[in-house]
Amino acid sequence: MDILHVSAECFPVAKVGGLADVVGALPKYQNKLGIISKVILPYYDNSYIKNKKQESVYKSKLKLGSTSYSFEILELKTKLGFQLFLVKIPGLLDRENVYGYVDDTERFLSFQIAVLDWVVKSKAKPSVIHCHDHHTGFIPFMMSHSKKYKTLKNIPTILTIHNAQYQGQFGFDKLDYIPAFNQDKIGLLDWNNQINPLATAIKCAWRITTVSPSYLEELSIHANGLEYLLKHENQKSLGILNGVDTNVWDPEKDKLITKNYSVKTVQSGKKANKNYLCERFNLDRSKPLFSFIGRLVYEKGADLFSDIFYKSLLKNNASILVLGSGNKEVEAKLKSLNIPFKNSYNSFIGYDEVLAHQIYAGSDFLLMPSRVEPCGLNQMYALRYGTIPIVRRIGGLKDTVIDIGDGGFGICHDQSSVSDVVYSIDRAVEFYQNQAAFKKTRKKCMQIDYSWNKSAQEYLSLYKSLTN
Ligand code: ADP
Repeated sequence: MDILHVSAECFPVAKVGGLADVVGALPKYQNKLGIISKVILPYYDNSYIKNKKQESVYKSKLKLGSTSYSFEILELKTKLGFQLFLVKIPGLLDRENVYGYVDDTERFLSFQIAVLDWVVKSKAKPSVIHCHDHHTGFIPFMMSHSKKYKTLKNIPTILTIHNAQYQGQFGFDKLDYIPAFNQDKIGLLDWNNQINPLATAIKCAWRITTVSPSYLEELSIHANGLEYLLKHENQKSLGILNGVDTNVWDPEKDKLITKNYSVKTVQSGKKANKNYLCERFNLDRSKPLFSFIGRLVYEKGADLFSDIFYKSLLKNNASILVLGSGNKEVEAKLKSLNIPFKNSYNSFIGYDEVLAHQIYAGSDFLLMPSRVEPCGLNQMYALRYGTIPIVRRIGGLKDTVIDIGDGGFGICHDQSSVSDVVYSIDRAVEFYQNQAAFKKTRKKCMQIDYSWNKSAQEYLSLYKSLTN
C-alpha cells in the first residue's frame, strides 16, 4: 500500500503549528507498519529546504485560469523516515512563510493542480491520497470531476480536518482557476455563495477524519458555518487522536534541553531545566512555574491571558512564562506585564522551537485554556516531559487529560473564562504545596503513552477498508 500525504506543513521542513507535527510524524510511523507513506509539500524559500540536497523528478507547466506557471517536483534528499517531495512554483510558492500572502488562494490551488498533474502522469499511482486541511481541499473534487484527472477517479481520498476554523473561501470570480470539470457538479464547490475548499473536501473526500473524537462531536455544533454539512457527512467521518513523535519529544534524549531525564531522574532533571528557565527569564524558582506555548489567538483564549495572569500574579505565589506570537494587541499587553511583575512573569514573543522544548522540560504546569482545540499536541508533550497540563475540557484536551480529582494527572476546567483559569491556577498552586502528591503525579504523567503507534494503526485500518 502506497499513501501520499498532501499538506501545506511538515515538521521539520515547514512548521506553523500542530499540522506540521502530525504530517512530520504519522508517515514515519506508517512506514514502520509496513506501508509506504510519502509526503508532498510546497517548496518554500526557507533555510531548511535551501540547505538540503534535492533531486528533480518531474517538470511541467500548469494553468491557473489564463496564467501559465512552470513547476518542478523535487525530492528532498534527507532522512526523515519517509520520502518527501516538494512542489516548486517560482513566483508563487517559493516564499519564506507558509501562509499570510494576498495570493494564498492562487498559491495553494496551483500547488494542488501541480500535485495532480504529477500523479496523473506517474506510472505508480498511490493507493490512497490523504489530504490535510483546506489547502488541499480541491484534490478530492478534481480527482472525481475534472476531465484531465479522470484516471484518478478510483483512488480513495481522505481529508483530515486539523482545524475547521480556517476554510480558505473565495469568490466565484476565480472559478476558472479550477481545471475544467463536469459543470453538473458545480454545487459541490459552493458553500454560502462562495467557493469553499474545506466544504468541498468534506463533500467529496471518501472519508473524513478529525484529529480527536471529541472534536468530531463538537463540529456538529461549532464549525464556523459548516455544522450542518459535517452533521450530514457524519456517516463517513471518524475521530482519530493525534500522537506524539517519541523520537522528537523524548526528555531522555532531547538535545535541546539543559539536562536529560527519565521517570527515575525526573526530580533532578526538571529542577535543572527549571533553573535554566528561571535564570534566563529572571523568574523566582521557588514558586511553581506555569507556562503557555502557542499561537496568541482567540481560539487559544489568548485575549484572556493578561487578565488571568494579572489576577494570579497579584497573589504572589506563582511564576508565569509565555512563548507565542499572534494578535498584536495581545502581544503588547503580554509584554507590558513585565513591568509590575518583574520576578514572576516573562514572555518571549516569537516562534522558537528550541525554547519550546526547554519550556516543556522546565515548567511545572502548562496552561491551555483553549476555546477551540481540535486535538492539541502541547498537553501531550507536557505530559511526556512531566509537566502537569491545566486544560479546558474541549476537543482533544477532553480526550487526553483527566483531572487529579478524578484520579488523573491534570487540572481541568469547563469554561474558557478568566475565573475558571484563575481558579485552576489556584488549585495547581495548592497541589504544588503537597510535594509528595505533586512528584507522584509528575511521574504518572511521564508514563502515559500517547505515541503515534495506536493512531497510525487506526489510519491503516481506515486505508484498508477503502482499498480492499
Ligand atoms: P495549533 O496547531 O493549533 O497551533 P497544536 O497544539 O496542535 O496547536 O500544535 C502546536 C505546535 O506548535 C506544538 O509543537 C508547539 O510546541 C508549537 N508551537 C506553537 N507556538 C510556538 C512558538 N511560539 N514557538 C515554538 N513552538 C510553538
